[in-house]
Amino acid sequence: MRESWPVLILAISLFALRSFAQPDARPGEPVVRYDGYRVVSVVIRDFRDVRTLESIGIEPFGCEVRHDQANDFLVPPDRFDALVATGMPHMVTIHDLQPLIDAERVRLSAPIARDASWFQDYKNLSAVEAYMAELAALRPDLVTQIDLGVSLEGRPIKGLRISNDAVDLGRCKPAILLNSIQHAREWITVMNAMFVADHLVRNYDDDAYVRYLTDHAVFYIVPIMNPDGYVHTWTVNRFWRKNRRPNPGGSFGVDLNRNWGYQWGLSLPGGAGGSPFGSSDVYWGTGPFSEPETQRVRDFVLTHPEIKAHNDIHSYGQMILWSWGWSPTPIFNAPEWHDIGQEMNARINAVHGKTYTYGPIYTVIYPVSGSSVDWFYGTRSGILSMSYELRGPNFAPPPSEILLCAQETLPATLFQAEAMIDRYRFIADWNRDCSHDIVDLLDFIADFDALDPRCDLVPDGDLDILDLLEFIQLFSEAR
Ligand SMILES: [Zn+2]
Repeated sequence: MRESWPVLILAISLFALRSFAQPDARPGEPVVRYDGYRVVSVVIRDFRDVRTLESIGIEPFGCEVRHDQANDFLVPPDRFDALVATGMPHMVTIHDLQPLIDAERVRLSAPIARDASWFQDYKNLSAVEAYMAELAALRPDLVTQIDLGVSLEGRPIKGLRISNDAVDLGRCKPAILLNSIQHAREWITVMNAMFVADHLVRNYDDDAYVRYLTDHAVFYIVPIMNPDGYVHTWTVNRFWRKNRRPNPGGSFGVDLNRNWGYQWGLSLPGGAGGSPFGSSDVYWGTGPFSEPETQRVRDFVLTHPEIKAHNDIHSYGQMILWSWGWSPTPIFNAPEWHDIGQEMNARINAVHGKTYTYGPIYTVIYPVSGSSVDWFYGTRSGILSMSYELRGPNFAPPPSEILLCAQETLPATLFQAEAMIDRYRFIADWNRDCSHDIVDLLDFIADFDALDPRCDLVPDGDLDILDLLEFIQLFSEAR
């Protein structure tokens, strides 16, 4: 494991208070342009370097800034000379961002060859929804469409439920929830989540591992949790991050991944955590769960107690993250999560050789308050909640990265589901409420007394003391 970067943590916080300095776009407003904006890789030695850049109006482009390494910054055309004047070592990696966006738009407006893979290029909201419907139609025995409710602007937040319900294990099946696009501009994450769905559906019949996971677990996949922001990135501002909440003062958007109701609104060391200012890219909103999008996912989880794992998919930076985001204190499950994260990275690495850094959000990226991962871990009894930062090299990776990225994280995501199944076998969850408690024991005894044939656990056609002892044994083994 890496050591923490305490100075850096402080550093991120301050520039996290600032936004991308792009005008807020209203519906119908002209498309936001990035003419002459450079992406510059700058070597950051310490906190003072970050302050220096901040003071001349240069913002980080990625989701992280690491100490003693080169980091991406977005440099407006009139700020480049000021950067050069600082004398900080730097290298321009993109000389002009706008042609990249233009090329992407031209490419995406062209019809896609009929026989091409769906994962050949990025897909807008309606294309993703259509593909979800297609998968559901392809395997109605495995897939159902789910609707979590509407966003601020009234768009449905849709997803898929994938499991083979014909395989009834006689107990609760634990579920993993994958969500992406809390941050609108992270397009590759949509493709990543959809690839998992696609893989499960198309390989169920021929792949024993896929069949095992789909029989023993439920996959909930919500590829576009922030549909308003996503549409905005396709129509107005390619690098929009937040939802589309109109804020007092005329700015737009709440950072959904600062809006969850666990340790919400904390000003962490150095001002990190999020921002109380609407114009900031990390604005945490007017209160915990002030936003319909976080409310919808929260309510879905509260009504689905079988959800025992979670992965909130972001880009970019090649990381596997877990709690805490709000505190440097290791979580109770830190050793176990570390082993799982290590194995996930090994499986990623085995595919295309990429290495993902793994560890707690606080130390691997920066302090974050009100994150989804912390809410899942902190309020849902320590479930296996994780988060990816996928590969880049920026928020608009060329389409050739889509499949490579999806291929490498797929085995890691499946391993996370496997680890969940191992943790939550529910062997003594007699009332199938996805928890083990004394009620299960009492219910079993009541059914046993009523001569319920399901209680014949040592199957010999008789209900006797052996069955009772068997249940007590299972109950004592259960977590
Ligand atoms: Zn993100």
